[in-house]
Formats: sequence, structure tokens, C-alpha cells
Amino acid sequence: ATPTALMVGTGRGAQLGILIKGPEVLETTREVDTIVLDKTGTVTTGRMTLLAVHTAESVDEAEALRLAGALEHASEHPIARAVAAGAEAKVGTLPVPEDFANLAGLGVQGIVEGHAVLVGREKLLREWEIHLPADLARAREEAEAAGRTAIAVAWDGEARAVLEVADAVKDTSREAVERLRALGLTPILLTGDNKAVAQAVAAEVGIDQVIAEVMPEDKVDVVKRLQAEGRRVAMVGDGVNDAAALAQADLGLAMGTGTDAAIEAGDLTLVRGDLRAAADAIRLSRRTLATIK
Ligand code: ADP
Ligand code: MG
Repeated sequence: ATPTALMVGTGRGAQLGILIKGPEVLETTREVDTIVLDKTGTVTTGRMTLLAVHTAESVDEAEALRLAGALEHASEHPIARAVAAGAEAKVGTLPVPEDFANLAGLGVQGIVEGHAVLVGREKLLREWEIHLPADLARAREEAEAAGRTAIAVAWDGEARAVLEVADAVKDTSREAVERLRALGLTPILLTGDNKAVAQAVAAEVGIDQVIAEVMPEDKVDVVKRLQAEGRRVAMVGDGVNDAAALAQADLGLAMGTGTDAAIEAGDLTLVRGDLRAAADAIRLSRRTLATIK
């Protein structure tokens, strides 16, 4: 009866948009008690938009958008896409950077029209000992208090603008969290983004535990720490920065709408990128197991 039950289980899984790597995955679904959810692209759509531009005194908004947009045009990060698209819409064709580097979890840096430009978290600027002037720091705080992500722009050694971007929560995420809880799992939101934004998103979907401001390479350590506490951990993610954590988790669930690295690292793929499928996958796998035994 075993092979048939498995086939039924995975056949129904395919209908629900769930791909399971192998039968050994089913067993783990029974044991998991904690589910770590990546924020951007997993709980939220990951499609951000540029909402506002704040410039320091005597800085031209179009100049800030041209320099920031040019660098972000070379990155595939959801924030970068929002900045590049927003900049292009406002100032037209963007220059091509003379030099570009992507700094995972921090932002981008490069040379645009002879200027050394940084775009990203305040932490990235601090690494260069660049600090936000008071008016930009205030703009940043207000944006974050409103649940938006504030991106700093600096060039030639000075912080000159703050960009506000926001990303909508998927309309299925709240229900997904409810269903995961009903299966006995404790949800935890994990993100590289700042605490204020993370808490705003968590509140919107009904999660009360948040681990924010985690560097991409440290996400795996968060999973290890939870495991060391004796928890059995499922992790849902979509990004390159989630791959190690997905592999480390007792059960890794990758968003099918995410990166290949995440899909390769996961045990299960949620083809449609709908978080509710995480609950379906766990429920279905547990039921399939019950049929086999
Ligand atoms: P998440 O864990 O939510 O998927 P990341 O680890 O990719 O987020 O990024 C963490 C933070 O670093 C972002 O919230 C943003 O502040 C900053 N960041 C990363 N990449 C970029 C970029 N290309 N442009 C601007 N900011 C960036
Ligand atoms: Mg992500």
C-alpha cells in the first residue's frame, strides 16, 4: 500500500501546487513545531514601489534618483527594482554605472558619472563612516514607523537622500498563518529588514515573534539556534539569502516564485508562491503518512 499512498499524496500535492522532493520528506512534516517565515517575497509580494524621495538641503531630487536608479538598475533585489523603476519613471533613461557591486543584505555600491555612490541600509553607510543628517534621519524614522523601508543614498562621502519603498503583504498570508497555527506550528517572521517594518508586517498577518535585521549569512544560525533549543523547524523562503537556512531547517519549503537557489535547497516547493500551500503541504504530508502506517 505504501507506494500507492505516496503517489496519491504527491498527486494531490501537485494539484495543490506542491512539489515534494522525496518520500523521506513526509516523515519530517509530522515533527515540525516551529515555522520560520522569510518576510520579503514570502509573506509579502516582494514587489515594492518607490513611494517618496527625501533629499538633504540643496540636493536635487532628480540627481539623487539618477545616481541611485543607475546603480539599482544593475541589481535584481526587489528594492532595487522598485528604485530603478521609480527613478526611470521620473527622470527618464538612467546612466550606466562605470563600476557596480551588490552587497547582499546591505545594498549596492558603485561609480556613476564619476561619483562614488552607495544605496542601501544605514548600516552600509556607517561602514563608510557616513551619517544621515538630522532631516534625513527624521524622514527615515517616520517612514519606518509607518511600516515602510527607508533606503539611504550617499555619494562622494555624504548622505544626500532617503528613499521610501513599500511592499504589500500578500492577501493570502494572514489566512496561511492561521492555518499553520491550527496545525500546531509557532510562526516566526525572519528578515534582514529593520524591526519597525518587520513588526508592522507581523502585526498585519498575526505573527507575534519577529527576528529582524538578520544578515543573509546569519539566517542559517537563527535556524540552528532554534534547533538547539529543541525545536523542530520548518522554514519558508524565496531568496538566495534563504538557501542555507532552508537546507538547515528540518523541513525547507521554497516559494516556486523565488530563486533557483531557494528551490534547490528546499525539500518542498510551493509552486504558486501562495503561503497557504505551506499549511496544505504539511497537512497533506501528515495525512499521507497516516494512510501508509
Ligand atoms: P529580506 O531578508 O527581507 O529578504 P535582504 O536580506 O535581502 O531582505 O535585505 C535586507 C535589507 O538590506 C533590506 O531591507 C534593505 O534595507 C537593504 N538592501 C538589500 N539590498 C538592497 C538594494 N539592492 N538596495 C537597497 N537596499 C538594499
Ligand atoms: Mg526573501
